[in-house]
Amino acid sequence: MRRSRNLFHALLLGMLSLGFAIGALFPMFMIQLGFLTRNEVHPSFVFAALAAGLAAGGLNFLLAASIVRPRLRLLATRMQAVRATLRDASFTGDRTPYDPEQCSVPEHGSDELGVVARNYNALLRGLHEARQIEARIQRFSQALSSELDLGELGVRGLDLLIELAAADGGALLLERQGTWSILASRGMRGAEQLSRSPVFLDACREGERRRVTLPQDTAVDAVLWGFRPEDTLIDPIRHNGIVLGWLVLAATRPMGDEVTRLIPTLLQGLGLALNNALLYDDLQRVAALDPLTGVYNRGFGMRRLEEELARAERAHGPVALLIIDIDHFKNVNDTFGHVAGDRVLVIVSQVCRDVLREGDLLMRYGGEEFMAILPGASLADANSIAERVRFAIASTPVETDAGRVTVTASIGVAVSPGGVAVGAEAFIGIADSRLYAAKAGGRDRVMAGDP
Ligand code: GH3
Ligand code: MG
Ligand code: MG
Repeated sequence: MRRSRNLFHALLLGMLSLGFAIGALFPMFMIQLGFLTRNEVHPSFVFAALAAGLAAGGLNFLLAASIVRPRLRLLATRMQAVRATLRDASFTGDRTPYDPEQCSVPEHGSDELGVVARNYNALLRGLHEARQIEARIQRFSQALSSELDLGELGVRGLDLLIELAAADGGALLLERQGTWSILASRGMRGAEQLSRSPVFLDACREGERRRVTLPQDTAVDAVLWGFRPEDTLIDPIRHNGIVLGWLVLAATRPMGDEVTRLIPTLLQGLGLALNNALLYDDLQRVAALDPLTGVYNRGFGMRRLEEELARAERAHGPVALLIIDIDHFKNVNDTFGHVAGDRVLVIVSQVCRDVLREGDLLMRYGGEEFMAILPGASLADANSIAERVRFAIASTPVETDAGRVTVTASIGVAVSPGGVAVGAEAFIGIADSRLYAAKAGGRDRVMAGDP
């Protein structure tokens, strides 16, 4: 404000001096031009000319100040208001603290003041956009940061990214130990095929962003997408420089520059959340798995058995339980050693897993005892699966450092018809007594009913 006051002082002084000079020169001009003679110029005339000159200078100043001052004042007050709201916002966390329309100034004329007004308004809009982008990034990261469930994180992250990019579909892919999996997908026909798409694999090899626009993408989109994408973006999701997964976004219209520049920043937030969810997933796996055989451990398996029995009761569908016990396993240890015994346990668990269907659950119940939960299996189903398990174990010799070992197993089967409340302990008791009967009956056999 001080500068502008000095400026207006100088302007006033200049205008008054000019007026004074014109007033002083006016009588001389009149004499020179012959309108007046020297005698006709009285001191009162000179005085009047000086006064008129000064008045004109003063009026000129007032006119100029009345045009320029309000515009400068408005600009200064708006700037102050924006500065105050910005300062408050840094405490409240408000990311869009002012309305750019309300804080802008009128852009009259193409003079310097008009240019200043236009530049100020543009600055304000730029600042507002930057704050909005910041707000979006923050909302995105906040929405995902507390999510530890991998599947849930994938779906929510992808939905938000599709929404923010105004895309029409997309997918999130993970590569763990050399195998691809789809964390989430939307608008795609066969997301699994993406990991075989040359365009996608090419981008992954380079570890860099890839943008594909029609027509190169026609071969890919015809197979993969439920719509015809004109613009496809493939972006790595990194954490601490390591690629954890990939984002694929597809849109029927080209995605804007602002969006494509924003995505890598959003993916930083997703990378952190994804890393946490992956660690949590690993931790859960470790807590649920038997370290020797890699099948579920007893603690996890028992919880699942209780869940399955409750589900069978509600859904009026059957559930079956197999207890698989290796015959004379003590002899294996005694003859071939404990290490060979361990190897037999690993192979037997693999054989069981291969025979069981997807959706069945295998756990290591104790030393050389396994348990399989077969949701939806009737007595006939359970009996035939148990027979196949028994046959597969008996016909799979295990190569160990101490020699080739062939074992057999006895299996007790229990089936709950569903629709009735069955306790896990009682259910296991039934299978266990049938296992005992199978052992008593000569081993290497299945017992699915009471003897
Ligand atoms: P049966 O036919 O009556 O089932 O006889 P079995 O010898 O299989 O049964 P028993 O319960 O007498 O012996 C089980 C053996 O399994 C005893 C134990 O040393 C062995 N075992 C338990 N856990 C492990 C393990 O983790 N590794 C190895 N190598 N052996 C184990
Ligand atoms: Mg045994
Ligand atoms: Mg046993």
